[in-house]
Amino acid sequence: MTKTLDLLIAGGGAAGLTAAVYAARSGLDFVLVDLASSMGSQITQTEDVDNYTGFGKINGMELVMKFYEHAKALDAPMINDEVKEITKTDELFTVKCEKAEYKAKSVIFCAGASHRELGIKGEKEFFGKGVGYCAVCDGFFYRNKTVVVIGGGNTAVTEAVYLSKICKKVYLIHRRDSLRAEKVLTERLKNADNAEILYNSEVDEILGENAVNGVLLKDGRKLDCDGVFVAVGIVPRSDAVRGLAQLDKYGYVIADESGKTSVDGLFAAGDVRTKMLRQIITACSDGANCVESVNSYLNGKL
Ligand code: NAP
Repeated sequence: MTKTLDLLIAGGGAAGLTAAVYAARSGLDFVLVDLASSMGSQITQTEDVDNYTGFGKINGMELVMKFYEHAKALDAPMINDEVKEITKTDELFTVKCEKAEYKAKSVIFCAGASHRELGIKGEKEFFGKGVGYCAVCDGFFYRNKTVVVIGGGNTAVTEAVYLSKICKKVYLIHRRDSLRAEKVLTERLKNADNAEILYNSEVDEILGENAVNGVLLKDGRKLDCDGVFVAVGIVPRSDAVRGLAQLDKYGYVIADESGKTSVDGLFAAGDVRTKMLRQIITACSDGANCVESVNSYLNGKL
């Protein structure tokens, strides 16, 4: 018979790894499940994290490894698998994964978010042939070349700054007349001699033959480029609880300050939940809060 855990942590990003640290220190019988390949995926795609208190500037991958090593040092059990579906019957959660199934009295759901697609012509066709979503992963291929970054948020501006150090020319194309990104990031981009921001502009089509060779803007202009990085936001990875918990209209899991969702015993942390500020530091905070809530729940106090 399958053993019933106190807690299953679904997700291994900043929220999940912090929850694992707190759960291990609380003496809970738990496991963390995530695909090793996606652990901390959003953070690992960031070259410099410079707003995580105490570190000044740290490489994203290095920070995730520090989270991971901290959890490992506490003997936090981590399983390499993909959470597919979470259901609840008779006060117990069943967590169906690709390779195994688990029973748990409580779940912290922290599956994170992934990049949003733009949905324009050429995006799918040229994916991997000039179209990408991660400058840190693919930027190297565009050394001394010309690239376009689409978007106006923190991700787009961070990617454009990163690419400006590698590429000959970087265009940031934004649909409005001002950027959504933090001022400090925007200033960095404006200070890069080889970066140009095109405001009030939208890409209609990504052009190419065997690989990308340009973009067509909605006003008819054509820009020659070798690569296009799409950075138009994120979508929550909430499919595993879609039939279980209440989601908002964008698919984020609705949760209160304690991480409590519409389902007793199911708590949500990190980018997958409703919240004002999606940052590494707030994801860590969510993870810690959720373990406190799990302890209260298991003791019949929540
Ligand atoms: P975001 O803040 O939601 O920004 C998405 C950007 O894409 C917006 O500028 C938006 O335009 C634009 N956009 C959306 N749909 C579009 C479309 N169909 N066509 C053209 N443009 C479109 O997303 P994000 O930058 O990926 O950031 C996600 C979260 O991670 C945010 O909470 C962010 O603060 C956080 N983050 C933080 C850091 C950091 O602290 N350094 C770094 C990266 C990400 P509008 O502005 O017109 O809406």
